[in-house]
Amino acid sequence: MTEKTKIPGATPAVATKLEKLGLTCQADLVLHLPLRFEDETQITAIADALPGTAAQFEVTVVSCEIAYRPRRQLVCRVEDASCEHRKHAGPPQVFPGPPGGGRRETASSGGDLILRFLNFYPSQQKVLQPGARLRVFGEVRGGFWGAELVHPRFHVIHDNEMLPTALTPVYPTTAGLGQGTLRRLIERALNEVELGETLPESMVQRLQLDDFAASVHSLHAPLPGLAADELAAAQRPAWRRIAFDELLAQQISLRQSYAARRARGAPCLAGDGRLTRPLLASLPFKLTAAQQRVWQELAQDLAQPHPMQRLLQGDVGSGKTVLAALAMLQAVEAGHQAALMAPTEILAEQHYRKLSQWLAPLGLEVAWLSGSQKKKDKTAALAKVGAGETALVVGTHALIEEGVEFARLGLAIVDEQHRFGVRQRLALKQKGVHSHQLAMSATPIPRTLAMSYYADLDVSVLDELPPGRTPIMTKLVGAARRDEIVERVRTLCRGGRQAYWVCPLIEESEALQLKTAEETYAYLTAELPELKVGLVHGRLKTDEKAAVMAAFVQNEIQLLVATTVIEVGVDVPNASLMVIEHAERFGLAQLHQLRGRVGRGVSESACVLLYEPPLSETARARLKIIYENSDGFEIARQDLHLRGPGEFIGARQSGLPLLRFADLEDTALVEVAREAAEEMLVRWPEHAERHLARWLGGRAELLKA
Ligand code: ADP
Ligand code: MG
Repeated sequence: MTEKTKIPGATPAVATKLEKLGLTCQADLVLHLPLRFEDETQITAIADALPGTAAQFEVTVVSCEIAYRPRRQLVCRVEDASCEHRKHAGPPQVFPGPPGGGRRETASSGGDLILRFLNFYPSQQKVLQPGARLRVFGEVRGGFWGAELVHPRFHVIHDNEMLPTALTPVYPTTAGLGQGTLRRLIERALNEVELGETLPESMVQRLQLDDFAASVHSLHAPLPGLAADELAAAQRPAWRRIAFDELLAQQISLRQSYAARRARGAPCLAGDGRLTRPLLASLPFKLTAAQQRVWQELAQDLAQPHPMQRLLQGDVGSGKTVLAALAMLQAVEAGHQAALMAPTEILAEQHYRKLSQWLAPLGLEVAWLSGSQKKKDKTAALAKVGAGETALVVGTHALIEEGVEFARLGLAIVDEQHRFGVRQRLALKQKGVHSHQLAMSATPIPRTLAMSYYADLDVSVLDELPPGRTPIMTKLVGAARRDEIVERVRTLCRGGRQAYWVCPLIEESEALQLKTAEETYAYLTAELPELKVGLVHGRLKTDEKAAVMAAFVQNEIQLLVATTVIEVGVDVPNASLMVIEHAERFGLAQLHQLRGRVGRGVSESACVLLYEPPLSETARARLKIIYENSDGFEIARQDLHLRGPGEFIGARQSGLPLLRFADLEDTALVEVAREAAEEMLVRWPEHAERHLARWLGGRAELLKA
């Protein structure tokens, strides 16, 4: 632990626990906000105890014994004045309930209350002596011995002890870190940390924000006496202030890291068009308007003396590959090397073929690097790349492994970047610290999320599909009708078309997934003897995979049975039917990707989602989204709504802490925070620094790295 992370009042053991919660300085504690509150400002009479509610009692211990049945436990019987009263008055055990609520049964039948401890220390037993006066808090239950509190919080009442005047906060915590400790440390932090305004006064006014210090105090210790909904309403402005501040800190930090990277130098890759022009001329199609626009953006970025940091988002099939090729050629025109990395062997291999096919006529060689490549081939490729003999390199993450040295890497492109882990993306960044970077993704990110998590990138969007595509017809079919689908495959393939059959995703077991794929393959081969059926899955060796894919591209295989290895990027325009088994097990982004494997040629295409009834409520909702929408952005937006941002961010894993308080669906607030961040960095940089220090504490430095 560094000096910086020390929290006054915390022992090293406690500090370790706090660190687990992401709390490394006192300022972090201030922003560790309660999950809920307990009301210890009032005392409930035992006679009024209602089962299922939490309450506080002031009691005297009557007896305390260890019971051995039904299991060893400490059973402590306590009473208060209401019990006395009841003993004399006889047992009216049913009390009138709240107005209109009829009569409600109270929990205390014997007139006293049991405190039950399944785990206990001798020290606790010692305190719970007959005659001891206690204040206890817990949830009332009707139990084995009558009304009881299981593992209540309790303490011996001091002389003249007052009731607290504020509600007691309950904080998110971790095993071994008690609420008492957390409360004490947070209370101290609230007194010691400087809670002054970090925003310029004019901004607070204009955005009608509540005062920061007041907000924090009211969130930790609201005034008692309000019903739950009243409390929520009273705290709303304070929550808004905190959510805004959190978003603002995120925006400032992303912008700063963008600026820091931009401040680095990079080679100006101004092209002269001697390679890009012939490529454009040789393509069998014209770029769409969207492609042309993005190509301009890329060309301009590359010509700058600082690194491009761009994300290219384009729905499945929008034509990102050709833009990657153009950008790579511009780097080569300027005398540099360019690398293209893809997340799977199949996709990398496909890129390699496509690029080789496009670029061979221009006299350019493309080098190939993959994990499963023969040692001899790899060594040869590495030597050429290291000597700068090959300007273009395509591969899997083998590209970023140790031992891969580029002579003069000018541009690094990552395809389907969301499929790579943090570590891999970092490694690529380090390989090309001074190179231009382009990430491509077909997983559309909803706008608020993009604004929030990609604020450190420039984003280009391909919002237009190449012309001449027929829309894909999506069908939801119960698994019982599999036979009909098999017939459909037969007719289609006899007519010269091709089809994919994707096997169920089995997340728990790769072996099981493989087994199902092989069974499906055997089944379809038997059902469709006149067709050539192929099988491709992740366990095949690279050259085996490549051979199957090549045969499918050549239409030597008509039906391709596959696991999700074909999810991304695979491009075979003659394939016009996609069958997905157990579609309900797939994520929406995945289904959209898979569906995007068809509809790439001129013939009408279809996607059949086979599902196994009965469907759960969520499964139904998700399949409905994919059925009703073809636009990837709309699907992503609805998916976000269904799942919440957590899983989306999983795809990014940038090392940024998740937003704890802000709701990304609150587009308006995200937008306001973004503009405020921009303004602050320009007009009030010291305020921005202070704000960042408060919100990111020790992590601020880390994020800039
Ligand atoms: P993705 O954006 O999903 O990576 P691809 O780059 O694989 O898409 O392109 C999908 C298909 O569309 C490919 O066969 C590609 O050659 C073709 N294509 C790309 N741009 C155009 C265009 N402007 N006109 C017609 N076809 C195009
Ligand atoms: Mg692609």
